[in-house]
Amino acid sequence: MDFSADGLEQQLSVVRRCFESGKTRSLSWRKSQLKALQRLLVEKEQEIFRVLKEDLGKHQAEAFRDEVGFLGKSVDYHLANLDKWVAPTKISIPLVAFPTSCQLVQEPLGVVLLLSPWNFPIALSLEPLIGAISAGNAVVVKPSELTPSSSAFLETNIPLYLDGEAVKVIQGGPNVGEKLLEQKWDKIFFTGSPRVGRIVMTAAAKHLTPVALELGGKTPCIVDFISGSRDKQTLLKRIIGGKWGSCYGQACIAIDYLLVEEKFATVLVELLKTMMKTLTKPEYVSNIITKHHFERLCNLLDDPLVASSVVHGGSIDREKMYIEPTILIDPPLDSEIMTEEIFGPLLPIVTLKKIEDSIDFMKGRPKPLVIYAFTKNETLKRKIVEETSSGAITFNDTLIHYVCDGIPFGGVGQSGFGKYHGKCSFDMFSHGKPVMRRSFLTEFSFRYPPWNEDKMQL
Ligand code: NAD
Repeated sequence: MDFSADGLEQQLSVVRRCFESGKTRSLSWRKSQLKALQRLLVEKEQEIFRVLKEDLGKHQAEAFRDEVGFLGKSVDYHLANLDKWVAPTKISIPLVAFPTSCQLVQEPLGVVLLLSPWNFPIALSLEPLIGAISAGNAVVVKPSELTPSSSAFLETNIPLYLDGEAVKVIQGGPNVGEKLLEQKWDKIFFTGSPRVGRIVMTAAAKHLTPVALELGGKTPCIVDFISGSRDKQTLLKRIIGGKWGSCYGQACIAIDYLLVEEKFATVLVELLKTMMKTLTKPEYVSNIITKHHFERLCNLLDDPLVASSVVHGGSIDREKMYIEPTILIDPPLDSEIMTEEIFGPLLPIVTLKKIEDSIDFMKGRPKPLVIYAFTKNETLKRKIVEETSSGAITFNDTLIHYVCDGIPFGGVGQSGFGKYHGKCSFDMFSHGKPVMRRSFLTEFSFRYPPWNEDKMQL
């Protein structure tokens, strides 16, 4: 591919011309593209499993749950609801403007850029694409350079199924990303790190391009005491699944750390250890993506005060770039493991005198993408909802909110901004344009000069 400024501009001009031709606006085009995407997911399912195995060592069951199955459900949801979403809706108008009708008409934004990360390379490229197509846009997708097989799969297969003039996949790393950001877009949808998020926003400011930033951060999980053995088993599975069960902790909504009352910490670790034996075997978990990330995680454990807080796991196989699922109790709060997003299989537990202290703990830190809390205490639940801020809250489970189409997904504060999934994905890439239709029937003189005392009495 030609990445010179001219080469890129030429390719983008094809996409822009396609949008300007009006083709992507038609409902039938949108539906045909969504159906084509559905076909791609079905016909290329095995190939997707293969590339995810190559890039991340992702187990097929996990790859289906988090990528292929998740996307299939999403396309179905859009196809089932699109007629309703595109239909203009009535806006009520006050009497002063009578007689008038007003509708909110949805229009596509234009040509949008999607920049996606490596941890769910297929899902996080195609989920926003579904929204962009539903809303009638032309799209350029740049997947991550760290998952070359998945990115090559997308570049090869998207044009075989979808309209190649309207949807383009461009592979490349930061250099290509930066060149793309120099272009003028109608929206940039970015999923990735806060560091690159800042680069994206800075570049977007030049053209006043709207952006959505889907970032990450440190996701807290409060664990209040749970009585009843069946609930306890479920709680443990949900914690383990939420920490190690999706891309081995390399997920934006993975649990980053637990908040637990001091007196329950040791018993919780013992329970987790027993359950982890069956759930986190090396053959079930994904790889740590690169040497750089592997070293980054090892360095988090290098700090002697952190190393001495390890209560389970901690062994490292440099050759296989494998780190055992690791639990730590009370590493120093100013150590990197407690200040940076972990994004890997290390789980610190922060102990508290009372579980209610978790609220102040979270309030003193950047707003997370999600807060999880296992508790049956309704007062605590209410306080968490009312006194903290986060992209979302899930009580008594982890990760599950991500797959519910009706739940807007996105961050707040440092975890990003802009919501998508389901109808929000359609809204993300649409402009709701009020269209007012006035009549000449009535007229009020107080609207216009000359200004005089009579008009001031009204
Ligand atoms: P990243 O920010 O390094 O990269 C994301 C994308 O930006 C990639 O396509 C990359 O090639 C591109 N990029 C990198 N440098 C660039 C530059 N200078 N100019 C333009 N583009 C550039 O993120 P990552 O390591 O791929 O993903 C991990 C991060 O993503 C974590 O912080 C995680 O929390 C976050 N994340 C968030 C979500 C979410 O939905 N909120 C989902 C997954 C991951």
